[in-house]
Amino acid sequence: MSRKAIPMSVVTRFAPSPTGHLHVGNLRTALFNFLIAKKAGGQFILRLDDTDPERSTQAFADAIQEDLEWLGLTWDRIERQSYRFDRYAAAADELRAKGRFYEAWETPTELDLKRKKQLNMGQPPVYDRAALKLSDEDKDKLRAERGQGVWRFKLDHERIEWTDGILGDLSIDAASVSDPVLIRADGQVLYTIASVVDDTDMGVTHVVRGSDHVTNTATQIQIMAALGHDHPAFAHHSLLTGPQGEALSKRLGTLALRDLREQGMEPMALLSHMARIGSSQPVELAGSIDELAEGFDLNHFGSAPTKFDVQDLWPLTARVLHETPFAEVRDEINAIGVPDDLAETFWNVARANISKRSEMAGWWSLFRDGATPLVDAEDREFVAQAFAMLPDAPYDGETWGTWTNAVKEATGRKGKALFMPLRKAVTGMERGPEMADVMRLLQVKPSL
Ligand code: GLU
Repeated sequence: MSRKAIPMSVVTRFAPSPTGHLHVGNLRTALFNFLIAKKAGGQFILRLDDTDPERSTQAFADAIQEDLEWLGLTWDRIERQSYRFDRYAAAADELRAKGRFYEAWETPTELDLKRKKQLNMGQPPVYDRAALKLSDEDKDKLRAERGQGVWRFKLDHERIEWTDGILGDLSIDAASVSDPVLIRADGQVLYTIASVVDDTDMGVTHVVRGSDHVTNTATQIQIMAALGHDHPAFAHHSLLTGPQGEALSKRLGTLALRDLREQGMEPMALLSHMARIGSSQPVELAGSIDELAEGFDLNHFGSAPTKFDVQDLWPLTARVLHETPFAEVRDEINAIGVPDDLAETFWNVARANISKRSEMAGWWSLFRDGATPLVDAEDREFVAQAFAMLPDAPYDGETWGTWTNAVKEATGRKGKALFMPLRKAVTGMERGPEMADVMRLLQVKPSL
């Protein structure tokens, strides 16, 4: 009997640190990883990188989950690095036993000085490995004077190569990178090693993250190899810039997902946009996350920085609303007090005229209470005469036609001269929904 190879199933992860709120930049990473897993029928892990006890908070961890749930980016598994310190300690021991881990005692000021000297001499500011030359005696002395040192991973000075899912073939000379600090002097385990251990233990097959992580990836590939493991496939997406190509990093704080939610952005607008910008495919409004996953392919993305303009998201949000069927908003419409028999008509009118959900309430109060009429001086008499010919509310789908016909006959006005002053007087606006629908929804007789 022949044995078929079991296909390795795809496992991705999104690994935010719960030290702040998610913003559009993080969303790009989360979404790409989510879509890759979804498309392959694999697993998507939410991993909270919370090894920093001072900056990580439960409130941020909760907020991250809330934001992802709002967008429908739900995870198959959640992990927290703070529960896994024993695993990181074991990996550190292994690196120590293999001679790939060494203690160093330079203070930040000393390191800074070294870097400045190197730069002055036109050399790259790479850690000079002075700690590797310390004798046992030196080390005891330093430990007595300065306490525990930091622990650095000893890179093999060779080229580190991988084929990046977005950037293509990459090659980084390990000698151009400082031996990374994996454990701080106070014992705090740093992301670089924690991430390596997690990606291995959790069977992560694909890591997509921002291109600011390329050097990390190089060192992590070596750390994984030192621990006897293969590395996952890596892909680094470009970073977002503002509409003019300006750095977005400082403004990301104002582009928090929860703020966009509060401002009334629709999840599918945001997801559709973020799944396509920076790729060769045009931004199109998708009907569902499944549809986005179906069409998602890292091969379409390039290395150039990706321009992001939050203003692009509002027209898409309006389009989401225009395309939202009544059944999906029935409860919300009930909640603002629209009578059941008018709810569907109300939605058909409202959705074509709103750009955010919250604007529904305004339309309903206009129909419920009537508008402040907008009447030009020369139309005042005409409008008064027309209003006098209108019976009391409620109205129906025929009211507008019957009424305007009667007014036309009585006044001789027709076309725009007939309809426009009436529209303005009834709705208080020059443009808006079909007047037949307006009359049907109107709960009070308009008056001057
Ligand atoms: N916590 C890291 C970050 O937010 C995760 C990076 C990674 O995906 O490995 O930058």
